[in-house]
Amino acid sequence: MTRDPSKDRPHTTTDGGAAAPSDEHSLSVGRDGPLVLHDHYLIEQMAKFNRERIPERQPHAKGSGAFGHFEVTHDITAYTKAVVFQPGTKTDVLARFSSVAGERGSPDTWRDPRGFALKFYTDVGNYDMVGNNTPVFFIRDPMKFQHFIRSQKRRADNGLRDHDMQWDFWTLSPESAHQVTWLMGDRGIPRTWRHMNGYSSHTYMWVNAGGEKFWVKYHFKTDQGVEFYTQDEADRMAGKDGDCHRRDLFESIAEGDHPSWTLKVQVMPFEEARTYRFNPFDLTKVWPHGDYPLIDVGKLVLDRNPTDFHTEIEQAAFEPNSLIPGIGLSPDKMLLARGFAYSDAHRARLGVNYKQIPVNRPRCEVHSYSKDGAMRVQNVSDPVYAPNSKGGPAADPSLSDEAGLWHADGDMVRAAYTLRKDDDDWGQAGTLVREVMDDAARDRLVDNVVGHLADGVREPVLSRAFEYWDKIDADIGARIRKQMRG
Ligand code: NDP
Repeated sequence: MTRDPSKDRPHTTTDGGAAAPSDEHSLSVGRDGPLVLHDHYLIEQMAKFNRERIPERQPHAKGSGAFGHFEVTHDITAYTKAVVFQPGTKTDVLARFSSVAGERGSPDTWRDPRGFALKFYTDVGNYDMVGNNTPVFFIRDPMKFQHFIRSQKRRADNGLRDHDMQWDFWTLSPESAHQVTWLMGDRGIPRTWRHMNGYSSHTYMWVNAGGEKFWVKYHFKTDQGVEFYTQDEADRMAGKDGDCHRRDLFESIAEGDHPSWTLKVQVMPFEEARTYRFNPFDLTKVWPHGDYPLIDVGKLVLDRNPTDFHTEIEQAAFEPNSLIPGIGLSPDKMLLARGFAYSDAHRARLGVNYKQIPVNRPRCEVHSYSKDGAMRVQNVSDPVYAPNSKGGPAADPSLSDEAGLWHADGDMVRAAYTLRKDDDDWGQAGTLVREVMDDAARDRLVDNVVGHLADGVREPVLSRAFEYWDKIDADIGARIRKQMRG
């Protein structure tokens, strides 16, 4: 590096490494004359500036993250052979937290679910667990996802967010009731990212060393305790410090206060999925703890801040289909669609070679047959095809009969999941209101819903919203209607 000996700091260079002549003055014809086009350094500065922003994520645009590790504290080898979950194993991790609907500069305290995405850098490839701070979601069929997100973002005509649009979608999609109840409750605005849980939400498959399969849901429980902002506190904070969650995480870690989460899982034997009273793959439902108690696994600790937000956080790419042996997907329609959608979003946002960006690069050797494309920076060698007789990589057929396989048979249809005994759209939402919330939490729920509805929800959507809450809980429905009309 060229150094300025008088100041003991490096000389500025162009991106090509040549010394730059000035940080302050462009090249002009005479002191007061026009600028010239061959001032390469000025042109490079202007051109690079115009291209600094890459497309923001659609959704989960606003977020931040940190590095750390995950350590297994309990023996769960009965359920999975995945290297990341073997007793005593410690794996480097990147975590990214985010809000969903807001843009890259939106306030951290808007009422919204929060993303809880983890990348485990294992020595057999990266494993991504791309969850949320909520155990359920608004919809269960990916055909509705794009429409759902558009209803949460901005109108076509005036570019404004619109609660009427949100409630229009929700009330016409009764499967949203559980997640909407959760969202309007206390956990809809976490106090910080450190004070929220992370859930896989989806059901995944685990496979043990003997080839036995299980269904699993992940619960990362915050060791800091769950804390929330009331709507008033969140509104004030949006004006005072819209980046408060990003700031809190960064400053806590910088001060040596390292946040941690305890991972627990619910495990369902493979065959029980056929007869369980709820469809265990329906993303709008939890598995009640009474049916499937939590099993301890290990601890996630975040102890290192990024030093370059753009390369380490903005360009981080998480995808639920990034799996390792011992972990597979499940027949959850939303999860199967995310398997395509996330990697496709990264190709669109970061380019087809996004896995070569250092933060996304696996820690093991890569022997894929992918070739070329924009920004391929890692060498590819011959042969570039398979099968070949030239000593190229060969796939491992022993993996083809484990994770990811389940029985499916039937005509091709466009239809909802088959209903199980206890499957309905309102039951678990009602349980949350009646059995989990206390009186004070129910009061805040009513206030939050009324405040949300009063902010722009019009007929006929408003009447549908009243009926929606009647079905979740008759008493809460009556209180909302009364408070709105009173
Ligand atoms: P439990 O009484 O065993 O569990 C209730 C859970 O609700 C708690 O463990 C806690 O989750 C979570 N919780 C507490 N306060 C709130 C709140 N204000 N908003 C959202 N969640 C809260 O009951 P069940 O397992 O039978 O579930 C009953 C209801 O609890 C479900 O219908 C669902 O709405 C909700 N729930 C259930 C979860 C599950 O996986 N079974 C997970 C989260 C919520 P935690 O311990 O994770 O902090």
